[in-house]
Amino acid sequence: MIPSAEQTQPLISADALLSSVFDASEIGFVLLDPHRQVVLWNAWMAQASGIPATAAIGRQLDQLFTSAIPLRLAQAIDDAIGLGMSSVLSPSLNKRLLPLQKDVPGTHRREAIKQVFIVKPIVQGAGRYCLVQISDTTNAELRERVLRQQASELLLQKELLITLINAMRDVVCFKDGENRWLVANQFFLDLFGLGGIDYVGRTAEELAEHSQFDPSAASFSQETDEQAWAEGHPIVFEQVLPLSDGNVKVFDVCKTPLFNSDGSRMGLVVVGRDITERRTAAARIHHLAHHDSLTDLPNRVLFQERLRAALAQARRARGMLALILLDLDKFKETNDTLGHHVGDLLLRAVARRLQHCVRETDTVARLGGDEFAVLLTNLNSVDGASTVAEGILRSLSEPYSLDDNEVVASASLGITVFPDDGEAFETLLKNADLALYRSKSDGRARYHFYVAEMDEEVQQRKAIEHDLRHALGTDQLSLHYQPLIDLRSGEITGAEALIRWHHPVKGAIPPAAFIPIAERSDLIFRLGRWVLHRACMQIQAWKKAGLPPLRVSINLSPAQFRHPDLLDTIKTVIALTGADPHLLQVEITETIAMSNFGYSVEVLRALHELGLAIAIDDFGTGYSSLNYLKHFPVDTLKIDRSFVSDLGRYPENAAIVKAIINLGHGIGAKVNVEGVETSEQLRFMNDHQCDECQGFYFSQPLPPEDYARLIEQTAPWKRTSSD
Ligand code: C2E
Ligand code: MG
Ligand code: MG
Repeated sequence: MIPSAEQTQPLISADALLSSVFDASEIGFVLLDPHRQVVLWNAWMAQASGIPATAAIGRQLDQLFTSAIPLRLAQAIDDAIGLGMSSVLSPSLNKRLLPLQKDVPGTHRREAIKQVFIVKPIVQGAGRYCLVQISDTTNAELRERVLRQQASELLLQKELLITLINAMRDVVCFKDGENRWLVANQFFLDLFGLGGIDYVGRTAEELAEHSQFDPSAASFSQETDEQAWAEGHPIVFEQVLPLSDGNVKVFDVCKTPLFNSDGSRMGLVVVGRDITERRTAAARIHHLAHHDSLTDLPNRVLFQERLRAALAQARRARGMLALILLDLDKFKETNDTLGHHVGDLLLRAVARRLQHCVRETDTVARLGGDEFAVLLTNLNSVDGASTVAEGILRSLSEPYSLDDNEVVASASLGITVFPDDGEAFETLLKNADLALYRSKSDGRARYHFYVAEMDEEVQQRKAIEHDLRHALGTDQLSLHYQPLIDLRSGEITGAEALIRWHHPVKGAIPPAAFIPIAERSDLIFRLGRWVLHRACMQIQAWKKAGLPPLRVSINLSPAQFRHPDLLDTIKTVIALTGADPHLLQVEITETIAMSNFGYSVEVLRALHELGLAIAIDDFGTGYSSLNYLKHFPVDTLKIDRSFVSDLGRYPENAAIVKAIINLGHGIGAKVNVEGVETSEQLRFMNDHQCDECQGFYFSQPLPPEDYARLIEQTAPWKRTSSD
């Protein structure tokens, strides 16, 4: 204790005493005032730095040494004076903090002092001072304190780090320079079932031996570790990893190698992000873009890719392949009658059956709507393709049981063969389409191989379609009227309107040559509307000219009849022209009426209610049953011309005609016979109570003026037939 001044005369002042204590100290003391100027500089410091206290006091540390003081030390001083914080600056983390030296005992040499700094704030009055204690690390006690301090700092850092990595939803692992695991986060351990395993110090491959960690993934991990070391910078790659629960995940992995300052390996940081969902989504999108959503078959895009690839392969291997295009027959009717749901079920069922008809290496695709394609690769002969085609026809024609509906379907097929029919991708597709077209026009439910003549046919068809489109707005089209004769009275009761096309170059083109072509496109609707409109205008024109009210019968094509706008179109045209609907008759063929029974009944009844008469055309060629027929509001059955022309040659035709007449009368309909050309035929019809006739015997179909003239004259055949 230092005695007080009043008690005894002091031998030495307190300040002097304090400074000798400092000077006697084995460590360096430097006290800095709030302005960072030295206020105390003890003998140890003077000895170590070679700067006497007198030179040091009143100056800042920076002004005392030739080189700037390290940032860490300046920072620590600032922290002490500014924030009141203590710091320990250890030599192991840095080189010497200040150029301090000590004598080497027994020599005249001096050597650098390894220093540890303890920087502390000292509050004195209003100002905050900074006491810097510098010791030689040979001072064991101090060294131990420093080490303890460092250890606790490291521990804290490690704890923070582990909390951080465990909170991450990425897999994280630190490895040492030998690729041995040091720390892995919980997410990593859980995902790969490494929970209870002592992983520290093991490489991935060693771990795989002691856990469920996949061996091949482990060796891949080892390889990529080495790759990261070799490249010397972070590497990024994707890795598929089997998990302990049997699932597989895809990771976006980044491996960062860390090196010591001497270039040796320090450690490896591995971070992996689970991108499985992103990959799955990408794969799903890819699948959707290449597959049909209804049947899950490859779509047109993927089919074309496969076809191109198969062609390239067949070219290299001099192989043979076949392309089959397939279209369901009358699919639209199934859709219309049974609904889209059943239509969809049918498409799915067809897709499944098709897949069973081919080998695994072949491709079945849905190109759209009811169109499918089959690619047969590695064919030995063309016969192989016929066998498959026959199998497909057989399989698809088996009845389908769809949602309590028994559905019958069939398909038409077109086949083309590489290299026989063509080499190019587009050519093959076109050829198969031509062959398919032939199957359709030949009556469906069959297959055809492509033959070169089909091209010519199609060219003609295309030319007709093109020219007809142009003809529609011009006077190339007209309606001719063929009189309908009441057999009992011999009077003309009306006429059938028949379309005529006078092509400017090709001359007259018969309806049979262009109606089916129009039928395959939207042209038929424009054409049908035009016929209806023209016929109604004609009715009005004749009325105006004073002709008796005679009925006009118009033909409706299948597509026209099935079109949902049919009724509206007819109503609109009647309203526009003012024609009396009772003077209109529509003719639909027996086949159209029967193919979609429920719908036909509905439409025919609606037409009947409008006042229109209904005739069933070409009767006898289809498969009508009386049961069905009696539900239709039929006014006239028109016996097909073929029965009449062959009356003499085939006696059974006479029996058929008689039967149809009876049938017609049985359901309360009038019976008409088309194509009466001779007086014998007329007599036969008369004898069998046929009601109405038309045919060249009476008159060709006539232009409207000629028909009007004929009405105005007394009918000449009346006299002839009664002769
Ligand atoms: P269809 O409705 O059965 O018409 C009767 C066809 O028989 C007409 O042929 C007519 O000229 C022909 N014909 C009439 N009497 C005789 C005869 O005594 N002997 C022979 N050999 N033939 C006779 P056309 O005009 O060539 O029409 C053929 C088919 O084209 C029609 O058969 C009908 O299905 C269709 N068609 C004609 N005009 C139209 C139309 O405006 N719209 C629609 N959708 N189809 C039409
Ligand atoms: Mg007709
Ligand atoms: Mg007919």
